[in-house]
Amino acid sequence: MKKFTKIICLLAALCICLTCAACGNAKTESGTPSSADSGKKLVMGTNAAFPPYEFVDDNNNIVGIDAEIAKAVADKLGMELEIKDMEFDSLITAVKSGSIDIALAGMTVNDERKESVDFSDTYATGVQVVIVPENSSIKTIDDLEGKKIGVQAGTTGDNYCTSDYGQDHVKQFTNGALAVAALANGQVDCVVIDNEPAKNFVKANKGLKILETEYANEDYAAAIAKDNKDLQEKFNKALKELKDEGKIAEIIEKYIPSEQ
Ligand code: GLN
Repeated sequence: MKKFTKIICLLAALCICLTCAACGNAKTESGTPSSADSGKKLVMGTNAAFPPYEFVDDNNNIVGIDAEIAKAVADKLGMELEIKDMEFDSLITAVKSGSIDIALAGMTVNDERKESVDFSDTYATGVQVVIVPENSSIKTIDDLEGKKIGVQAGTTGDNYCTSDYGQDHVKQFTNGALAVAALANGQVDCVVIDNEPAKNFVKANKGLKILETEYANEDYAAAIAKDNKDLQEKFNKALKELKDEGKIAEIIEKYIPSEQ
């Protein structure tokens, strides 16, 4: 009997020790400064159907200008980059809810979005252009009146066309490839989308061209939650260093070679 009591006492003591050790660990972990960096992981959201900014390559990896810029920033911050692919019009909500830390998606900075999220410094520019069939009667932006316009849901192209020509004339698609496929099938008369993806889509589909007149000029930046000033500052600092080192220009040149 006495022996048993001794063993139980020993076991109880051991349990207490282990519990204390566990408590100690938890305390140091939650107290480390890295908690502000989501445990050293930078979770980026994007819509990987927007070449050359983001697309899925032959090895099933998400690559492109945004993916490489985010990786270069994460490297500078000593963080590991994780990329989550989602629909473009879910990105702002995902940043707000914290399910992603940052969104890089060829995303245009505008006042409406600034009400929901903060933006980093800008790292690229974009132009809204119009894609039409080669034999189209649409020659300039003025000819869009009364036409059926394909757009990507929730994009600036969608906003401009809806307010300029009315919702009845705008057909929303979940991504640019689907909008361009509808144009190739004759379901819409034109597609309004960012210029670099437009060039990619026109190259991939015969019989389409881009109008020379531009719809709008825009700046791209990363969206970050309003209460995450720490990440915004760190991102901007790393981005500035990368700009100064010529790394951003190098990444853009890799995907959008300047014409010689
Ligand atoms: N630049 C456009 C926007 O921010 C489109 C971006 C995209 O479709 N990925 O609305």
